[in-house]
Amino acid sequence: MTLWCGSQRGLASSQVLIAVAWFIFAALSAQGQSSPAAQVADCPTADHQAAATGGEANDPIAAARPEIQRIGRSSFPELVHIDLRVRAFRSQSDYFRTRFSWSRFLLLMRMRYFVDVNPALFQRQAPSDGTCAIVAHELAHVASLSRGNRIRRLGLIRLIFRRYTVKFERGADLEAIHRGYGVGLKAYRNWVYSHIPPDKVQPKLRTYFSPEEITAIQMKLQEQPDLFEYWKRHVPTNLQEIQLAR
Ligand SMILES: [Zn+2]
Repeated sequence: MTLWCGSQRGLASSQVLIAVAWFIFAALSAQGQSSPAAQVADCPTADHQAAATGGEANDPIAAARPEIQRIGRSSFPELVHIDLRVRAFRSQSDYFRTRFSWSRFLLLMRMRYFVDVNPALFQRQAPSDGTCAIVAHELAHVASLSRGNRIRRLGLIRLIFRRYTVKFERGADLEAIHRGYGVGLKAYRNWVYSHIPPDKVQPKLRTYFSPEEITAIQMKLQEQPDLFEYWKRHVPTNLQEIQLAR
């Protein structure tokens, strides 16, 4: 959900619960598929999710791992060779975020990406399809960041300006919707509005697509699928821009 670019040095080692080389697993899985086309991941049922959370009570990141694996395999086959790791973080207003290693970037080392998960997600019973959708949003960030070269990534400095942050976040939303996670993304947003401090709701509504905006996007894309390519270059920032798009 939130992108933070920085060195991992500042993080307490206790926060780094596990590093998941799940793309190796994804690569093995992809070999057995007859079609490389991306598909919506089959999200676990509420019962399965509860069982997994209970079974992994001391390691919520381990509970998140299978879900992230499933979504990566199904919907982001282009990330098979990316070095992606999963960690825990704590926050009152964010449940997921994507980072990359700034130090590895500066040292011209192979890029490494992190999807950070707030364990409170499980205690507060986020909807299963919503969790899948927000993972797809994070993987859309990773897919975007892993395209192009380091010079292009330097452009991320623009994220200090709110206008670019909005386009960056809504761009990831758009990608998740396009890959079939629109319904789940609406469920996630409805859940998150009631599980963050009240003063954080308006910033969320400004930065990300609201359920109403997601519905409008789904309807527009159904009528005019070509709009997706246009919106990738001109990310809509409000409902009117979505409704007036042609
Ligand atoms: Zn995001």
